[in-house]
Amino acid sequence: MIIVLKPDATDEQIDHIVEKLDDLNLRPEVSRGIKRTLIGVIGEEDVIRNAPLRAFPGVEDVMPILKPYKLASREFQQEDSEFNFGHGVKVGGGNLAMIAGPCAIENEEVLLEIAREVKAAGANILRGGAFKPRTSPYSFQGLGKEGLKILRAVGDELQMPVITEVMDPRQVELVDKYSDAFQIGARNMQNFNLLSEVGQTHRPVMLKRGMSATVNDLLMSAEYILAAGNKEVVLCERGIRSFDSSTRNLLDLAMVPNVKGNCHLPIVIDPSHATGRPDLIPSMALASIAAGADGVHIEVHSRPEEAMSDGQQALLPDQYAEVMQQMKTLAEVFHKTIPEARGA
Ligand code: PEP
Ligand code: MN
Repeated sequence: MIIVLKPDATDEQIDHIVEKLDDLNLRPEVSRGIKRTLIGVIGEEDVIRNAPLRAFPGVEDVMPILKPYKLASREFQQEDSEFNFGHGVKVGGGNLAMIAGPCAIENEEVLLEIAREVKAAGANILRGGAFKPRTSPYSFQGLGKEGLKILRAVGDELQMPVITEVMDPRQVELVDKYSDAFQIGARNMQNFNLLSEVGQTHRPVMLKRGMSATVNDLLMSAEYILAAGNKEVVLCERGIRSFDSSTRNLLDLAMVPNVKGNCHLPIVIDPSHATGRPDLIPSMALASIAAGADGVHIEVHSRPEEAMSDGQQALLPDQYAEVMQQMKTLAEVFHKTIPEARGA
């Protein structure tokens, strides 16, 4: 249920409503928009239905949230969400996340080399995997804590916020120590314990769409994080499985306007995992900006043939710089800003 407050509702009236809802064991979520303040009411349907919500001073209207996701819906928050990743990098609300780095962190020297190149090209968030979800248990699984330390050190040296994947609720505390943001991978999109765990942190979470997940499934997973208290969720489309094996996955670009109509969370596109092909990544990166995405996530490696994972789909730093140049032009056309990562 959404409580729409009168434009002149006072802070005391809002506090009073929140208190009363707490007493009823309901969860009030206050959303202060530019024009209006709304209070989303989450909890048991019967209790909500019977609560005298219209009777509170300051209330103008009470409406059901029709979507199965509540806090993620535009009904709850009309304005686009915007989150701070650190080092001056905002994402959403017209700010583009340019996330780049190798699939896996291999050693400090290689990560630093790649990070320098992508930052010079205009990337504003450095990414590298320390915990890698691999199809085979015999493949390189990532450097773990050692990798996190390297990522932090390189991020600090270059004054860039960093993001890395967390695969297990037991890793959340450790990753929280070293990374500015969490990535939840496609394979873990419905690991509900993991979603609730990152939901209790205060860092942005980039939630990747599962390879067989519907848009609705993705939004319900985002809702788990929001419901646990963390409002900073960025959705990531990385392609879904299809019958066509000519690309690694099938990039669902229509999900951007599709989701944006109903949901206020920023959306990043990952053309690297979506296509698996360096020859297709640049055009899909540009199409992502044109489709209204809030960022693009691209895997880059200075020596793809030596990469320990996903080398076949990595762009070379020069190729990344070229597509970044084109994305900058498109960003201007669409009145978007690419924040520059700088000193904290
Ligand atoms: C990755 O980002 O390296 C990755 C494993 O992606 P996904 O979870 O989308 O497969
Ligand atoms: Mn990868």
